[in-house]
Amino acid sequence: MSLKKRGSDSLQFKTHDIEELTPAMVGKEIACCGWIEDMRKLGKMTFLTVRDVTGIAQVIVKEEAQKYLEELPRQSVIRIKGKVQETKAKDFSFEINAQSIELLAKAVHPLPIDPIGRLESNIDNRLNARALDLRNQKTAAIFKIRHHVLASIRKTLGEKKFIEITTPKIIGSASEGGANLFSLEYFGKQAYLAQSPQLYKEQMTIGLERVFEISTFYRAEKSHTVRHLSEFTSVDIEAAFMDYTDVMNVLESLIVNVYNDTANNCKKEQEELEIEIKPPSAPFERITYAQALELLKKHDIKLNFGDDLQDAHLRVLGKELAGFYFIVDWPLKLKPFYIHEKDDEPDLSKSFDLQFGYLELSSGGTRLHSPEKIKSRLKEQGLDPSKFADHLRAFEWGMPPHAGWGLGLDRLMSVITKIDNIREVVLYPRDSERLSP
Ligand code: ATP
Ligand code: MN
Repeated sequence: MSLKKRGSDSLQFKTHDIEELTPAMVGKEIACCGWIEDMRKLGKMTFLTVRDVTGIAQVIVKEEAQKYLEELPRQSVIRIKGKVQETKAKDFSFEINAQSIELLAKAVHPLPIDPIGRLESNIDNRLNARALDLRNQKTAAIFKIRHHVLASIRKTLGEKKFIEITTPKIIGSASEGGANLFSLEYFGKQAYLAQSPQLYKEQMTIGLERVFEISTFYRAEKSHTVRHLSEFTSVDIEAAFMDYTDVMNVLESLIVNVYNDTANNCKKEQEELEIEIKPPSAPFERITYAQALELLKKHDIKLNFGDDLQDAHLRVLGKELAGFYFIVDWPLKLKPFYIHEKDDEPDLSKSFDLQFGYLELSSGGTRLHSPEKIKSRLKEQGLDPSKFADHLRAFEWGMPPHAGWGLGLDRLMSVITKIDNIREVVLYPRDSERLSP
């Protein structure tokens, strides 16, 4: 047994990720790296459990390295060189007999949170030590699933010939009205943080037809809820030559694919979170805004046409309509200026929200593409068309009819993982009280 400094042998940092080690490798010399999750001394031997991002292994340490290990706090990072051997342990199918252990980085003791999760830490303490929290396998599982969700979305939209774009986050005018925008000083001028890519993605349909963006956007949300952050990740699409029912179908198949892909690719993560990702069956139920009012009436909630559905109303609807469903054909006056009216009922709009129970996941619709109509809608909504001059110019260049939606990725993540608080599924959440770390 030796305690070597790195550089004293020619092996690469590690020969294997822990998940690549198998009982078939008994007798083989390997090197792996990870952090000490647990340490038990039993007579002349010390048993370590060492984890890397892929898995966990038992390491047996004999002789002189033991004393050295005693001074090593858990979560310290080590490199182990040793041989794979058979084990008597119940929880492992092999173990590593250490020939040398190198300390790569020592962890302090005590740590601000217990990343093993034996001691529950509250969410604020965990967010304050977020990097360490990622050594908690439940937390790591959330972000591994998030990775697969993003990969799945890119795959589906790519197959449907959507082109990924990146639009500005620093913008010079309040693109959809001024409410809940963050403003900042930009070289002596007033600027804002974008709340969505709406106007840019619409313009991009002129040349690219079908576009999507996955980016963070910003809203000065004062409301303190488990579903709002001031910085959130939005998945946005915009497609020429589609109307709102077409883009609803895109959204529906995207959600089903995300469920199928994560159900298949995230088996360990589901176990870790004690969830089962069950793909929903399509088509999702579709009710109109008018039908939603009828349903609410049965629960003695009387709303007038044109009233918005508040949180309390959506909670009632969410009980009636479990899972994913669309609410379509909203009153035009509840929708932003760029939404198209219904041809036969101009008080209604070609619009939809995708809901999961009470929770709104996405809003979308057919957009206006006639510049005259947009100008008059802006005025109707008390907005000044001259402030939208750059955007309106593009509508004179042959703007195709188009439709699209924005989907809250963080909300979708909270639905997939069955974790209510959106802060759990965002690495470093930003809300009215939290700006660091
Ligand atoms: P809500 O009424 O729930 O505040 P919204 O109607 O203002 O949402 P949209 O402008 O329709 O939101 O944005 C599209 C999607 O982006 C929403 O359906 C939601 O999933 C997500 N989203 C919007 N604002 C936030 C936020 N502050 N935090 C997290 N996700 C958000
Ligand atoms: Mn919305």
